[in-house]
Amino acid sequence: MPISGSRRSDYRSWGGTVAGEHLVYRPRSLADARAALTATGGASVLAYGNGRSYGDVGLNPGGRLIDCRGLDRFIEFDRQTGIVTCEAGVRLADILAALCRPDPDGSGWFLPVSPGTRFVTVGGAIANDVHGKNHHREGCFGRHVLGLDLARGDGSVLSCSPQSQPDLFAATIGGLGLTGLILSARVQLRRVVGTGVEAEDIRFAGLDDFFALAAESEAGWEYTAAWIDCLATGAALGRGIFSRARHHAGIGVPPPALDPKIAIPFALPLSPLNRLTLLAFNTAYFHKLGRRGRRRWVGSYEKVLYPLDKIGDWNRLYGARGFFQFQCVVPNTVARDAIAELLARIAASGQGSMLAVLKTMGDLPSPGLLSFPMAGASLALDFPDTGAPTRQLLAALEAIVVAAGGRLYPAKDSVMSAETFRRGYPRLPEFLRYTDPAMSSGFARRVGLDNRLREAA
Ligand SMILES: Cc1cc2nc3c(=O)[nH]c(=O)nc-3n(C[C@H](O)[C@H](O)[C@H](O)COP(=O)(O)OP(=O)(O)OC[C@H]3O[C@@H](n4cnc5c(N)ncnc54)[C@H](O)[C@@H]3O)c2cc1C
Repeated sequence: MPISGSRRSDYRSWGGTVAGEHLVYRPRSLADARAALTATGGASVLAYGNGRSYGDVGLNPGGRLIDCRGLDRFIEFDRQTGIVTCEAGVRLADILAALCRPDPDGSGWFLPVSPGTRFVTVGGAIANDVHGKNHHREGCFGRHVLGLDLARGDGSVLSCSPQSQPDLFAATIGGLGLTGLILSARVQLRRVVGTGVEAEDIRFAGLDDFFALAAESEAGWEYTAAWIDCLATGAALGRGIFSRARHHAGIGVPPPALDPKIAIPFALPLSPLNRLTLLAFNTAYFHKLGRRGRRRWVGSYEKVLYPLDKIGDWNRLYGARGFFQFQCVVPNTVARDAIAELLARIAASGQGSMLAVLKTMGDLPSPGLLSFPMAGASLALDFPDTGAPTRQLLAALEAIVVAAGGRLYPAKDSVMSAETFRRGYPRLPEFLRYTDPAMSSGFARRVGLDNRLREAA
């Protein structure tokens, strides 16, 4: 029986600023997913993972969406090698729960790379080539993908890997869902000495200290990132708390819950986050480590990797208008000055969020043609949508990043210009040779990926 879709207008971006009507298919099998991809209807199509992208990269307003959450079966796991084969809708949370349980000595298999939420699908992790706090050690998720099956709009299914169809494989890693529908993937998990972690939090006074701590921590610590007080100015500009962690021998902790235990039930009419609440929070948080300014602890990786996963639908806290996330990376040579300029601009605007994250990225290359990370420093933070002032601020930040030779992250973006995208991703012309004409997205249309840039390639 042919699979049918339903018209829906409740698919929104994680930031809540992008929505639209879609014809949505919810396949429960790989055969149905292929049928949905080739179903007639003329409109373009896009895979939907678990909707954790902040902007329009995961939506296709006016077109079709294939919601992959029903493609949630494990196909094979080799406990000796740690290689897992699964359907594309399996979430990282499912892999943690099923495969990352500690052995009696605490050691075990673990995700090689994880973003700041475990509620993303394997397909979504590949299509955005996600990175985590261990980027300086392990690179992007795509480095650990051994192969994948890709369905194309012409009805074909291609097995891609670094050895077979390597170019299409490279285009699909970080390919923003535009090369086809990933049906399944083979991922190499990482053996860790303990599934628990030992961690250290260190207060620092400014950007020079941040870069010194990052450099000092690279060799010995697997996970590093810093919280930044985005309202601090003058001598305190860039102050924050540096967190570093590593797996700890003999300490095994069971995986956290498959879903958050508490959730925000609806979007508040207005965001409670404003300059005053932000100032109060940031000042208190900066001083949370007491007089010593340093704390060492041993325990669950959940606190290090997934602090936001505790509260379901926390994005609703930003109110009905939603919020934008901004994430950039700037190259090492200019990182110190460019980050200072970005932070000064943000502090002057009085906008920002409680969670601003600064992290250095390593130089391990990704196979992905459009992969976001580059060796340098990455800043990420949210801005409640206040209309024109927020858009003006985002445009100013974008200009600083472009001038610094950096780039913005499509998974987090809703506003960058086509020119900024083109300049930030020099391998774009190569990528455009492998896009599937059936696929499109709000992001693709916004940055001219599905027509102007294709024609120019
Ligand atoms: C709290 C939070 C923290 C985050 N932290 C990080 C972080 O530290 N690092 C980082 O890199 N990202 C981070 N992200 C972003 C997130 O990891 C990415 O946006 C991720 O791609 C979302 O996956 P998803 O399964 O929800 O996919 P969606 O958001 O639904 O889709 C993302 C992209 O994947 C494509 N896609 C999905 N499934 C398939 C498929 N089967 N075949 C082909 N294409 C597919 C979609 O078309 C779309 O282009 C964070 C997001 C949140 C909400």
